[in-house]
Amino acid sequence: MSCPNCSPFPAPSSEFTPSEHPEFPSGSTNPCKLCTPLGACLAFKGIAGTVPLLHGSQGCATYIRRYLISHFREPIDIASTNFSEDSAVFGGRKNLHTALDNVGRQYRPVLVGIATTCLSETMGENMPMLIGEYRTECGMRNAECGTDGATEELSAGASDTTGVVPFASDSESIRTPQSEFRNPELVHVSTPSFKGTHAEGFHAAVRALVETLAGTSDGRAGPLGPPSERTAQRSVPTSEARLALFPGMVSPADLRHLRDFCAAWGEATITLVPDYAETLDGPSWSEFERMPHGGTTIEELRALGRATAALEFGHSLAAAPATAGTHLNKKFGVRLHRLGLPIGVRANDAFCAALSERCPEVGASLLAKADAESPASRLLHGKPLFCTAVDSSGRELRLPARIAAERGRLIDSYVDAHKYLAGKKAIVYGEDDLVAGIAVFLAETGITPVLVASGERNRRLADAIFAAAPELRDRIEVREGSDFGDIGTRIAELKPDLLIGSSKGYKLARSLNVPLVRCGFPVHDRLGAQRIQLLGYAGTQQLFDRIVNALLEAKQEHSDIGYAYL
Ligand code: SF4
Repeated sequence: MSCPNCSPFPAPSSEFTPSEHPEFPSGSTNPCKLCTPLGACLAFKGIAGTVPLLHGSQGCATYIRRYLISHFREPIDIASTNFSEDSAVFGGRKNLHTALDNVGRQYRPVLVGIATTCLSETMGENMPMLIGEYRTECGMRNAECGTDGATEELSAGASDTTGVVPFASDSESIRTPQSEFRNPELVHVSTPSFKGTHAEGFHAAVRALVETLAGTSDGRAGPLGPPSERTAQRSVPTSEARLALFPGMVSPADLRHLRDFCAAWGEATITLVPDYAETLDGPSWSEFERMPHGGTTIEELRALGRATAALEFGHSLAAAPATAGTHLNKKFGVRLHRLGLPIGVRANDAFCAALSERCPEVGASLLAKADAESPASRLLHGKPLFCTAVDSSGRELRLPARIAAERGRLIDSYVDAHKYLAGKKAIVYGEDDLVAGIAVFLAETGITPVLVASGERNRRLADAIFAAAPELRDRIEVREGSDFGDIGTRIAELKPDLLIGSSKGYKLARSLNVPLVRCGFPVHDRLGAQRIQLLGYAGTQQLFDRIVNALLEAKQEHSDIGYAYL
């Protein structure tokens, strides 16, 4: 077995045989995807007080840590069960239990997110059984101690003047006296990378979190201590009805913008799952924090069963049979809106329509409140708090004034830039929901996304794009299971004017001498990947300006005259 990340020539998924599926090649060179547990670790980093734990070899954790740190530029801990040859032969039970003990002692987590790597998946580790055994063992150890763990915690810490509790070794005799501190929640997600992508690992982890915790009461998980100040400020009583929002694999800046966007409708009480806006893009610390502040709290996850509605982003994910959103819908009857990533006017209009439907009375009540509180101010500015706009299908949209202004500015910039964009061609690559969202947006601007490539092989991408942007049908190529070798062979014929995707496409863009507009994951050759904004009218504006300016810059540089006025 070869690793699609560590090896330049990974093996294809065993589920796909080239003879049966000629559209998928038998091997790949630098695929448009990354390791599946990486996506799961990213999702777990968005849950407050959570440590991701990889069940497998240490190299997988090192590789994933390096990739995440280079993108987010934040310290990121990922634990590993550290398989050796004998664990690969006899099983990783002992490694898992020792690792959970060590993680519990070192981090005092509320939750440990366990993702299985290629090795443990190939071995066929029975994770539900191993985790069940650990829980039973913890229960017995707690009963023997006769404490809730707090006393143990103090006595163990007291022996160490640095305050760092030493790791337990493999030896059972050492594990037993260092008994339980507190039992964190354990959430397992199966992430075999030989048949998945980082985006699929991300969605699988979000689904596992919701399936494990939504609708449960506070059981095993003990408190980690007081929540961070910022988390506490954001927290609302879990009895309060909330909107659940599953944004997918987006940047921390986009997560913050989504919260503001919903707040413009009066939707202050939303639960973002996951929410790594702070954990992966925090301020500088005066002292090192082993567990960064922020994240979706476990109480918010437990309360998801009572959500008033759920929004799930992803043009392609919308056709997936089982997701976090479908679980809430089927098990708890939560109303589910499945939308594309809100990039571009159309997708954002659909997002706004879903928000308006969710809270139809909000606009009217805010207007009434504004009139009552400050009728003069409204007259003075001549603008109501809510405006009405008409979308491309003729539907009337009622938007908060700030959002309506952002929408208006975006449309105005489309008009301003049309002369630079008409007839331009782009290649878009990366996670399937991202490339679908960008392709649908590009279709609005005059740029043709001549090739849309993703690493996923779920056979949903083309249908998702053509359903959202029917004008692209028969005009573009959509390739799943794609890699940069594959894209490279199509480039001579397609002659794109720019590439849009992660920094993995830099060499290709350089060889073509065309600009690369960076977005998605990973962006390792620029600063600020965690602040790249794509979502909402305002985020689309940023992407649009970057695209137009990249084309103008290329035109300027390639010009013999060197125009200073374009
Ligand atoms: S989980 Fe698989 S793809 Fe990921 S680093 Fe480990 S071996 Fe490589």
